[in-house]
Amino acid sequence: MLEQLGEEAKPLAGGQSLIPLMKMRLSRPTALVDLNFIPDLNRVERQNGHLTIGALARHADLEHSPDAAKIPIVHDCAAGIADAQVRNRGTLAGSLAEADPTGDWAPVLLCLDTEVVTAGQRSPRTIQLPHFFKDAYTTELAHDELIREVRVKVPGKNSGGAYVAFKRCAPVYASASAAVQITLGDKDLCKSARVFLGCVGLMPVHAAAAEHELAGKTISTKSITAAAEAAMAAAEPASDMRGSADYKKILIKNLTRRAIEAAVRRARGEKVEVSHEYVGR
Ligand SMILES: Cc1cc2nc3c(=O)[nH]c(=O)nc-3n(C[C@H](O)[C@H](O)[C@H](O)COP(=O)(O)OP(=O)(O)OC[C@H]3O[C@@H](n4cnc5c(N)ncnc54)[C@H](O)[C@@H]3O)c2cc1C
Repeated sequence: MLEQLGEEAKPLAGGQSLIPLMKMRLSRPTALVDLNFIPDLNRVERQNGHLTIGALARHADLEHSPDAAKIPIVHDCAAGIADAQVRNRGTLAGSLAEADPTGDWAPVLLCLDTEVVTAGQRSPRTIQLPHFFKDAYTTELAHDELIREVRVKVPGKNSGGAYVAFKRCAPVYASASAAVQITLGDKDLCKSARVFLGCVGLMPVHAAAAEHELAGKTISTKSITAAAEAAMAAAEPASDMRGSADYKKILIKNLTRRAIEAAVRRARGEKVEVSHEYVGR
């Protein structure tokens, strides 16, 4: 249908980004193709060492999935998106297709080994997530190509992650966010680290220097502080209604520190609850 209807037709999933944009006349599709009638696209299940997330799996499906809970950073993200209404309709696939620089899923899934599987008239493609995003609001998808499912490799033993965002209130996008996934070796030696930042660039920011402060070193207050400062230096936020650029940089430093601390504890096998930070709490 998308191919027949032409470039100005758009698929509709949860409608939680597309419908508000249409109401504001920022998006004017000539036709909507409602994916919600396609059966069996809402699965969230573990298969061959991967978490497979169908195109119509809602944020709430991930929030309540026992399989998703085994990757705590995924649960942190799903449970913290907006409010229950948005989580009950919005989908992870729609969020990736939208590629909104303030969306929560991209930095989280970039910390993991994630691939996007497409469907359409041409042969299905499997695209590694770092190659999927081309720019703000722009992805590799052709206009008649859909995300069929998203596959996340389940991290191995001694690996833990956490996602922390700062929000003015629940039903708004974050002001800044930090996603961290860490794998530990013996005696708290950090074998590998991934750090991605949200809302502080036109795309998720890969804080490679922060990873460098952690990988190959023993986790300590000193290495965590150095990584948090490196993340702050990597952030390139713009001043807007969510705060000044300087304010967001300070947020990044603190959010990264909190995310690393929680990720390390989870990598050690501790059960740690993580929630976003809200103004006034
Ligand atoms: C009040 C409010 C607060 C929000 N707060 C947050 C927040 O804090 N964090 C956050 O991350 N998000 C937030 N969102 C956005 C929400 O997460 C959306 O659900 C998500 O961004 C888009 O998913 P969707 O299923 O609603 O997609 P839709 O709105 O249906 O579609 C979005 C775009 O993706 C395309 N699309 C959808 N599915 C597919 C597919 N399978 N293949 C190809 N293209 C597809 C559509 O054509 C459209 O261009 C908020 C939304 C609202 C209304």
